[in-house]
Amino acid sequence: MVRTPQQKKQQSERKEGGAPQGKGPNLWVQLVAAFIIFLLLSAGYSLVQQYFSQQSESVPLSQIVSDINAGKVTSIEVSGDTVTATYSDKSTKTSHKETGTPLTQTLSDYGVASSSLAHVQMTVSDEGGLRFWALTLIPIIVPLLFLFGLVWYLSRQMRGAGMQAFTFGRSLARLTSPEDQNQRVTFADVAGAREAKEELTEIVDFLKNPKKFIQIGARIPKGVLLMGAPGTGKTLLARAVAGEAGVPFFSISGSEFVEMFVGVGASRVRDLFTTAKRGSPAIIFLDEIDAVGRVRGTGVGGGNDEREQTLNQILVEMDGFEPSEKVIVMAATNRPDVLDPALVRPGRFDRRVVIDLPDRRDREEILRTHSRSKPLGPDVNFAVIAERTPGFSGADLANLMNEGAILAARENRKEIAQFDLIRSIEKVMLGPERRSHVLNPKEKHITAYHEAGHALVASVLEYADPVHKVSIISRGRAAGYTLKLPLEDKKMQSRKEFLDDIAVSLGGYIAEKTVFDDITTGASNDLQVLTALARDMVTRYGMSEKIGTMVYEPGQGRTLFGAGVEGGEQSQETAAVIDAEVKRIIDGAYKRADAVLKKHRKVLDAIAGKLVEVETIERDEFEKILIANGITPKKKEGIEHAPLA
Ligand code: ADP
Ligand code: ZN
Ligand code: MG
Repeated sequence: MVRTPQQKKQQSERKEGGAPQGKGPNLWVQLVAAFIIFLLLSAGYSLVQQYFSQQSESVPLSQIVSDINAGKVTSIEVSGDTVTATYSDKSTKTSHKETGTPLTQTLSDYGVASSSLAHVQMTVSDEGGLRFWALTLIPIIVPLLFLFGLVWYLSRQMRGAGMQAFTFGRSLARLTSPEDQNQRVTFADVAGAREAKEELTEIVDFLKNPKKFIQIGARIPKGVLLMGAPGTGKTLLARAVAGEAGVPFFSISGSEFVEMFVGVGASRVRDLFTTAKRGSPAIIFLDEIDAVGRVRGTGVGGGNDEREQTLNQILVEMDGFEPSEKVIVMAATNRPDVLDPALVRPGRFDRRVVIDLPDRRDREEILRTHSRSKPLGPDVNFAVIAERTPGFSGADLANLMNEGAILAARENRKEIAQFDLIRSIEKVMLGPERRSHVLNPKEKHITAYHEAGHALVASVLEYADPVHKVSIISRGRAAGYTLKLPLEDKKMQSRKEFLDDIAVSLGGYIAEKTVFDDITTGASNDLQVLTALARDMVTRYGMSEKIGTMVYEPGQGRTLFGAGVEGGEQSQETAAVIDAEVKRIIDGAYKRADAVLKKHRKVLDAIAGKLVEVETIERDEFEKILIANGITPKKKEGIEHAPLA
């Protein structure tokens, strides 16, 4: 049997790194590129210069003087200090005279007879000619412009890189600068989560225009705590706030604070806050804060000193800055229940934003967001996919879209089809199919009865989720699976549902036992899951009359000489009562599942037989077998759920 993601989320605690690291092109590559551009420019310039100046031969002025005296020169043109002489054979020669002296003066100084000059046509051209300007200014302006450009560009790069290098060495925080358009995330990238976005808009407003708020004396929250199941988009939302406000985003994960060496965590916190204040307005994002922010003072023997110092430093820093410093601390956690109360008191993380798992409409929107850059076939219908994925988080849905694209690509199609997405739902939920994992005929038989047992109990018991698919193709670690999906999104589960869930989990075990009079290891995971669920019912949810409403959490983070001390809070007697209650719940479920399988043995055989034959039965096919045997399948309208709160 396989758990739905809704149940899974209660157990899993996902760790993931924050934003990918911003990497500009390598500085060396840029320098080399700049050098090459420079070379090209100077080559271009010398070509231009040659074009202008190579038309005539350059000679000393004395040569021109003697040519004038010899009567070979017909005309002279003076442009600035450049003297161009045109000869009777139409050839030209250039030379230069002294600056400021008239040419006639120069020529007479050289001893040119005025009689010989009489034959020569003299023109003095305007110095503002294109040629003059081109030749004088280009050599000055082009390199200057180039240099300015280079300096400006490099300094822009350095500002980012410098900050990054700086923050790296010391606090290990990642910086996403607002200028980095590639990494910019905005609210448009976060689908659904309407309430959360609304609450965070206020923070965005403050960061955009802090003066307005400060002048009127409004107290702006220092800390915002994002709470929600793994993959619901907490990290994404925090980045979106920074993106919307256009401020630097310093992010660090709680686990990164915790280091082997005492004092490092605390000094990192200090560095992080100092750096952020320098770049204000800014956001500091402490991801997975539960890694450092757990309730203090439960450590035995000082094992958690480092964590406590880090947490203390966070508290000190948060108390030590004023709203006028325009730094807002955001934090995310999927375990708000274990946070130290000191963290959540007013003046620290007093703003709390809860992010729920997406409902059907949100799921559709998230799917759409993640299909933006993917070509979709005409038959893709996100509404159907959203309906089939209750309990999926945003991250699961993003993964689903990606798996769909991979499937389409592997089959050499240019567009993603609905079929790809439907197959991906199961892949995301259960792991990939392992068709190569071949069962021998005996195992196949046992697995078929095992899964048929789950499926049948689920179909008969009133509060169990209906069966979507039964299969004896192994997936992930399971030999076979029965896929059940709730008829609608559920935020809460009731005692009756839990009891039926436990009975369904036992279905596989009981089927094996009744049919083969033997038990395989295939049921071990089922037993683990159902025992944990029964224990939770007793110790956490107040669902056992004997134990009542007292909650017995296993001791959190308690260690004694390195060994965990489980359940340190209850007496031996209570522990015995808890065990008895857990057993009573499981035994009751066992009886009910057993009764179902005995009563409907014929159906069990029918389902198992079909499974051996075709390996996978989809919902329609499965319901046909049920109907043929007089069991009414569950329909959407058929089940009444308790109204929420
Ligand atoms: P968390 O920090 O809550 O564990 P993340 O913010 O890291 O979750 O989300 C993981 C990924 O899931 C995101 O990068 C994004 O691709 C996707 N995702 C989650 N929630 C949403 C959402 N509401 N809209 C769009 N994508 C989402
Ligand atoms: Zn099973
Ligand atoms: Mg996260």
